[in-house]
Amino acid sequence: MRLPNGEIAESSRVQSAPMKRLVIALAVMAAGASAAGQPGRRSIAIVVYGGTVITQNGAHQILNPGSVAIDGTDVIEVGAADAIAAKYQAREAVDARGQIVLPGLINTHTHAPMVMYRGLADDLALMDWLQKYIFPAEAKTVSPEMVRIGTRLAALEMIESGTTTFADMYYFEEEIARAAFAAGLRGVLGETIIQFPVADAKTPAESLARAERFIREFKDNGLIVPAVAPHALYTNDRATLTASAELGRKYGVPVLIHFAETEDEVRTAREQYQMTPAAALASIGFWGPKTVAAHGVWVTDEDIAILKRYNVGIAHNPESNMKLASGAAPVMKYLAAAVNVGLGTDGAASNNDLDMFEAMRQAAFLAKLANKDPTAVSARTALDLATVGGARVLAMEPLIGSLEAGKRADVIVVSMREARQTPMYDPTSHLVYTTRGDDVRTTIVNGKILMKDRQVRTLDRAAVLADANRLAAKVRDAVKQ
Ligand SMILES: [Zn+2]
Repeated sequence: MRLPNGEIAESSRVQSAPMKRLVIALAVMAAGASAAGQPGRRSIAIVVYGGTVITQNGAHQILNPGSVAIDGTDVIEVGAADAIAAKYQAREAVDARGQIVLPGLINTHTHAPMVMYRGLADDLALMDWLQKYIFPAEAKTVSPEMVRIGTRLAALEMIESGTTTFADMYYFEEEIARAAFAAGLRGVLGETIIQFPVADAKTPAESLARAERFIREFKDNGLIVPAVAPHALYTNDRATLTASAELGRKYGVPVLIHFAETEDEVRTAREQYQMTPAAALASIGFWGPKTVAAHGVWVTDEDIAILKRYNVGIAHNPESNMKLASGAAPVMKYLAAAVNVGLGTDGAASNNDLDMFEAMRQAAFLAKLANKDPTAVSARTALDLATVGGARVLAMEPLIGSLEAGKRADVIVVSMREARQTPMYDPTSHLVYTTRGDDVRTTIVNGKILMKDRQVRTLDRAAVLADANRLAAKVRDAVKQ
């Protein structure tokens, strides 16, 4: 008896009949290419089979049991498990039974190498924290080697916790790009432009020249999207901001900026420009459709209208905003105004990890608290922000953010077998409210398995940790002096 199409339902309840059929189908699949009686099955690279597949497509379709067929860099079909098993012969199978399969998470704002400053100094006012610890540590330790070692550590953490795409702003961004590419991660990576001398440039002009070289080097890369990252309104003058935006436009690449993060930033903008940060940036022609504004905490209704007008994406960083007591971004207002919002962890020095599951949970909790409304940012909304929302913010929705034929195969498999996750009535609720990055079993990016059953294939885990610990001794010395 064929299963009716009704098996593709928004239900997570384990259906025993489909599971039995699936086991039979898998037994046939396991018999390999020589399987008799399976003529015409197409040979493809990977099938992720038998999980609860949360597609994050426009209809929020969930398939249980479902499978994802992958070949080359793309998802070629998402469907009922038995239908996929009958159609495709996979060279590598990923068993997702009893687990959740979903699009890889998208971190729209971080500074990957800052994992090296994780826990270096906590519980301080922003200026003390920056001036006594972070800036001195950066002045003495940021180097191509530090960026390389830090990015490998960040990549390991991201792969192990289900992040498949990250947007980054830092120095020596070409090192970040090389390390991310080697680890197999997708990145929207912006070379930082800042007014004062930093490790990789003495002047903004030098930074801009660096950024242009970086863009030229990586603009046709299948995993890396190069970008320009003017640090913020208050750390750059008008000419540098304008030049950064022009560079982005010249190459059609994203422009990443810290925006309206603190009340102080708004005060500074009012002094310098007699305007809010959003209006000031509009007045100098900065905003464009590929601008990603991180934070956006302190905005007026008029500011939100400006951001919508220019189709600016917001990278919301609830954990960093809470830890540094910056405030609560008006996520519900952004969503009501149809402004694109994604989630970010920010750098690990202000979080202190890169776990996007925690970012989802905290985004939901913070919105409920700030709005005094438990219905604000539901589990489904939080999951949308971390997947399709992030894809829209990064102008990559045609490629990533959902599991659909023709999109890139960025897929994660998450275990639901812990005591903490039992029982499961609603998989979306579980992903947001009980799941941790550690529960991710398998991570696939661009059709390549980066981690399977917790075994990372693209990085030497022991070497990455040893290098980071060795470098940490230098960081410790740098803040002591
Ligand atoms: Zn940041």
